[in-house]
Amino acid sequence: MSSNMVSIIRKKKAGEALTREEIAYVVRGATDRSLPDYQLAAWLMAVCWRGMDPRETTDLTLAMAHSGETVDLSGLDGVCVDKHSTGGVGDTTTLILTPLVAACGAPVAKMSGHALGHTGGTLDKLESIPGMGIALDRQAFIEQVRRIGCALVGQTDTLAPADKTLYALRDVTGTVDSLPLIASSIVSKKLASGAGAIVLDVKTGNGAMMQTEEESIELARRMVDIGRIAGKPMVAVITGMDEPLGSHVGNALEVKEAIDVLAGRVGGPLLEVSLVLGGLMLVAAGKAKNTEDARAGLKEALRSGAGLQKLREMIGAQGGDPRVADDPTLLPQAAHRVPVPALRAGVVARMDTVAIGYAAQSLGAGRVTKDDVIDPAVGLVMRVRIGDRVEAGQPLAVLHANDVDRVGAALEAMQRAVVIGEGPVEPPKLIRALVTAEGVTKEINRNPRQTHELHLTPTCGYGRK
Ligand code: URA
Ligand code: CA
Repeated sequence: MSSNMVSIIRKKKAGEALTREEIAYVVRGATDRSLPDYQLAAWLMAVCWRGMDPRETTDLTLAMAHSGETVDLSGLDGVCVDKHSTGGVGDTTTLILTPLVAACGAPVAKMSGHALGHTGGTLDKLESIPGMGIALDRQAFIEQVRRIGCALVGQTDTLAPADKTLYALRDVTGTVDSLPLIASSIVSKKLASGAGAIVLDVKTGNGAMMQTEEESIELARRMVDIGRIAGKPMVAVITGMDEPLGSHVGNALEVKEAIDVLAGRVGGPLLEVSLVLGGLMLVAAGKAKNTEDARAGLKEALRSGAGLQKLREMIGAQGGDPRVADDPTLLPQAAHRVPVPALRAGVVARMDTVAIGYAAQSLGAGRVTKDDVIDPAVGLVMRVRIGDRVEAGQPLAVLHANDVDRVGAALEAMQRAVVIGEGPVEPPKLIRALVTAEGVTKEINRNPRQTHELHLTPTCGYGRK
């Protein structure tokens, strides 16, 4: 126990700003575990209630970023770009963009994590590919990016270890939903993993960590501002999460959907968000003059199959079976497919996106307790989106299950999660705002096709021309 820590907790409890030294002291104690969990937990709760100003949030982020090893990617040719999503359901943009952006000439050295709460984790999805390795050592990771242009691996325990301690405590003390704590947690890991520029996808809506657009924009501003102070170019896009982004929710199922997008078989919101984020990544990497050119390049890499080819190479390089890129049936398949019938006719008015994420998890797609083993094959495929008209009995989704005992509860949960009302209902807006160091641009996507009319160039600091 530390009496110094008691005064730091009291100071924050009183709503005062902590000094850089005080913040460094807390982060050191979380890293070497010299501070007991109860003091860290009390401090987290005080931060949750009292907040942190931008200077404190930046100090916390930088201290956390340097709490462990940092990856040095400066030896790679070109600017390595990273993207990060605050977490959603059916969001497999990382699996699409890592090879697609690499195919357009920008190196992507990406570290991802496991599933969190109701959201999926890229690492769990990758592990569903037969043979795929996700634990490359540092040298092999960098070597692979140099050789084929991309790598997608797990985050090591030595990356921002302070976040590991604090996150685990937040998870069990009701202190996850704090703006400075979320911003510092995400950005510290991004800074430690060495990318030269970062594109953030901040979700908003009932399936997101921040449910309102205002809160999501505020989170994005905080993160972009930390990037500015840390000298790391960052931009953020606010995207809708009021329904699953793609139609597939589950690990092998989402890999299949990523392959379908790369093969040009699937479009819609998942493709649209991928093109917006990928466009910003290419501009940040200096591989496109503006997002319009970047978008054209990404589309060409889809059309020519270069993106899919890069996925084959990446899977092969990491020990996986590259044939899955051509034949997704080689991925684990569930034994049972069970349609979820609509209980009445009408129009899909809204969805409880968190409940949909948990329904997939309850079939075995995610961990309910820390020690659960994930079943890579299971999950669900949505058959409707908000605004769609349905008849009674029409499938709203199809469950992919191995354990029949789990089907009944998941089916009922899905019938509750997809709310059918009277129409007509407007589909939710997908791209809500762009947040750069210069400010916030809203109303950029009345028409989804208008996003490419934003002109972003590296020389104008990611701002609007
Ligand atoms: N993702 C993180 O890594 N940390 C948070 O606090 C929230 C989302
Ligand atoms: Ca999906």
